[in-house]
Amino acid sequence: MNESLSPIWHPFTQHALFPDFLEIDRAQGAYLYTTDGRRIIDAIASWWVITHGHCHPVMQEAARRQIERLDQVIFAGYTHEPAEQTARLLDELTPDGLDYVFFSDSGSTAVEVALKMALGYWHHLGSDRQRVLVLEHSYHGDTIGTMSVGERGVFNQPYNPLLFSVESIPFPSDGKEQETIDALEHHCRKQDDVAAFIAEPLVLGAGGMLMYGTETLAEMKRVCERYDVLFIADEVMTAWGRTGTVFACDQAQIVPDIACYSKGITGGFLPLAATMCHERIFMAHYSEDRSRTFFHSSSYTANPIACAVAAANLKMWKDPQVLERVKRVTELQKIMLSQLENSPWLTSIRQRGTISAMDVKVPDSGYLSGIGTELYLRFQKSGVLLRPLGNTIYVLPPYCVTQDDLDTVYETISETVSDLLG
Ligand SMILES: *Cc1c(COP(=O)(O)O)cnc(C)c1O
Repeated sequence: MNESLSPIWHPFTQHALFPDFLEIDRAQGAYLYTTDGRRIIDAIASWWVITHGHCHPVMQEAARRQIERLDQVIFAGYTHEPAEQTARLLDELTPDGLDYVFFSDSGSTAVEVALKMALGYWHHLGSDRQRVLVLEHSYHGDTIGTMSVGERGVFNQPYNPLLFSVESIPFPSDGKEQETIDALEHHCRKQDDVAAFIAEPLVLGAGGMLMYGTETLAEMKRVCERYDVLFIADEVMTAWGRTGTVFACDQAQIVPDIACYSKGITGGFLPLAATMCHERIFMAHYSEDRSRTFFHSSSYTANPIACAVAAANLKMWKDPQVLERVKRVTELQKIMLSQLENSPWLTSIRQRGTISAMDVKVPDSGYLSGIGTELYLRFQKSGVLLRPLGNTIYVLPPYCVTQDDLDTVYETISETVSDLLG
């Protein structure tokens, strides 16, 4: 298990500091099992992808059936039932106004597609709107385009020369919501070349599980409408129940012009993404003029097995019991957090739906804060997978998590933090 034996270069991993990797043999529900027989509670849903639980029988069965029929087929000029079914289900689950579905295979590509749709839309209308507005502290992926619209910092500093310039709207922190709205309005009014505004609705994930209110989200959308700026909702992390509703935008009762979904779209089973858009964006590309084609594809666009699993997952979301489980986890998280309220080591304790987060009081906050990595290793030793973002600890569990599991997770947090700081 030592990295010197393996040629693998792991993601977001400083190999010099973390030479050892836990080898996972199998997973079930909320648990990972290591090859040496340990059980680990997956308290971050394996990087936010697992929704109902690992190795869910419904998804397993869908994959098994599809594997026997059709593995992969070119998606230009061809289609297949799993993709058609997934698209129909997405259309049903998402609000009216998200009419067309473009498939890709990751959150990053879903965002890239969204940006290209937005720019293509204005281009084909003969407008020179090209500017993109972004929300401070955002994360939209690790490709060049998605880094461009994400927070600039230690993650992407070496690549800065490759990133296109955007304008950043301040994050709506508590009490400063109006500043955000005013800044957005100011940019839209001052510049007549704004193509789109992209934001993570309600919760900014990798930016530190930062949360803001539904009214602010609704108001941001209203400002965009007023100035005819396309509103892109990056729901890659927030969708599929994480924030308490199927989609975060549901809570603000807004319909984005373009929305990006991935992560839990297959329940976390296989990689797939969907970018959905309003009909007018599709129609701006619809023409006998071939130069208006939407020139985007990846080899595995709408892979039939991934789509079959997605369709099985989306059908599950039509069952009210799934949202009941989301509600249950939301309630449990609330109870768990209330027990931490008086901790002298924790601050900014917050929750949105099934996601909870808290900041450890340390002098050096921020992503490179040494405490995050120290906590991570200690949590792991205690049999809990939590991966703090700097000094921010968050719990983002699959919906099959039990009260006992969460008791263990929160006891581990309390004990580890007081051990380290006490
Ligand atoms: C994870 C994430 C992405 C990128 O998704 P990948 O599948 O890792 O490319 C984009 N946006 C948000 C909000 C995310 O949380």
